[in-house]
Amino acid sequence: MKEIVTRFAPSPTGTLHIGGVRTALFNYVYAKQNNGKFLIRIEDTDRERSQKKYEENILNNLSSIGLIPDEKPINQSQRNNIYIKAAEKIIESGNAYWCDCSQENLDQMRKEQIAAGKKPMYDGRSRNLGIQQSEKTVLRLATPEDGEIIVNDLIRGEIKFNNSELDDLILLRSDGTPTYHLCNVVDDYEQNVTTVIRGEDHISNTPRQIHIQKALGYPDLEYAHLPLVLGTDKKRLSKRNAATSLEEYRDKGYLDSAILNTLARLGWSQGENEVFYLDDLIKNFNIKEVQKAGAIFDITKLDWLNSQHLSKLSLEEFKNLLKPFLDEIGININDHENVDLLIESLRTSDNNLSGIANMLYPYYKDIKEYDDAAIKKFVTGNTILHDLKEILHNIDNWDEESINNALTKYQEDNNLKVPQVNQPVRIALTGKTKSPGLGLTLVIFGKELSLERIEKLLTF
Ligand code: GLU
Repeated sequence: MKEIVTRFAPSPTGTLHIGGVRTALFNYVYAKQNNGKFLIRIEDTDRERSQKKYEENILNNLSSIGLIPDEKPINQSQRNNIYIKAAEKIIESGNAYWCDCSQENLDQMRKEQIAAGKKPMYDGRSRNLGIQQSEKTVLRLATPEDGEIIVNDLIRGEIKFNNSELDDLILLRSDGTPTYHLCNVVDDYEQNVTTVIRGEDHISNTPRQIHIQKALGYPDLEYAHLPLVLGTDKKRLSKRNAATSLEEYRDKGYLDSAILNTLARLGWSQGENEVFYLDDLIKNFNIKEVQKAGAIFDITKLDWLNSQHLSKLSLEEFKNLLKPFLDEIGININDHENVDLLIESLRTSDNNLSGIANMLYPYYKDIKEYDDAAIKKFVTGNTILHDLKEILHNIDNWDEESINNALTKYQEDNNLKVPQVNQPVRIALTGKTKSPGLGLTLVIFGKELSLERIEKLLTF
């Protein structure tokens, strides 16, 4: 059997989009589970929109998230000769012709077709005119006029296209440059690709590309068109409904494994098992199980999966991953007496590493600001914090149990609710009403700093 070869073929017109990562992921997984190869091709023939910085962003992000190609990526912009040769081969086979229709001529044709209620498309008027190549001519593929093309899609099954609905597409522009479809088909052949896995927005391109393949005598390919990635508003995912670039999520501290897990779930699921890693995916993924309907990218799913993946890290792994996020806000992770206790106690305080780093801020540095509403609710107009300062001051054994006992006694003696007692202290220590158990929080801060912060809020 032929070795399975897949490819991810991004156009470098923007940073790596998470929908693109999903496409790359499925290509990678399908290749690996078939002991095949995963390749990357940069489709940068659109010189105006393609940029080197985007190409670098795409390649760096893919490899750092673990989707490493088995061969060096190729760039279409450097392969012009190969496409021209292929076009010449199609001319020799008699399956292409030169067309010198002017723009006015084409516009007129379009108008007439629309007026007659027909689908506007090039009608092949130059096909049998024997026009010679000149600087005004484009090269067109002579697409069969009858019959049909059947695409056997691994996800969608059989998709039929009538040839009569396909016009003679342009292979070479009048300036001699090859068009997108020609390059795409030639490269799949040259890279020995066997399986094209891409977004469903490419379905309508498929019969056209198959005609080019046939004209060149290339072997058939396997296709799988993935469902679109939608935002929670069920519209195509775009910057309007969510952050779309992979980097934005990595920068916020979503783990690569959680991002891949979330993206794999965009169109595929593994029964009840929601939390899985790349290796599991390679073992269990089945492209035929991918759904046809659009897949919704929901940040709350990513949040949940990220917290699951974070919880599976050892303390050391967790600290190593967290460190750069603390560096970012000017904190050296080791600048704390109880660092391990601190990190262990706060590792579930948010869904992502940058959120956790922010939660850790008051444990390392002076509080930047207090939660005003919380102060009004819990501190203003009572003497609780004042009383607690005295009580805490008198505790000799600064351990969780002694502290909690003292706090409970004060609460019961004064007939107060737990938050009435705990929240003023929390606000004094962290600026906010969220922290681990209060006894533990006080232990992490130590007696001296705890009392200092309480005093500071009292004089605030
Ligand atoms: N360059 C195309 C894109 O970025 C991909 C084409 C393909 O996968 O065949 O959408």
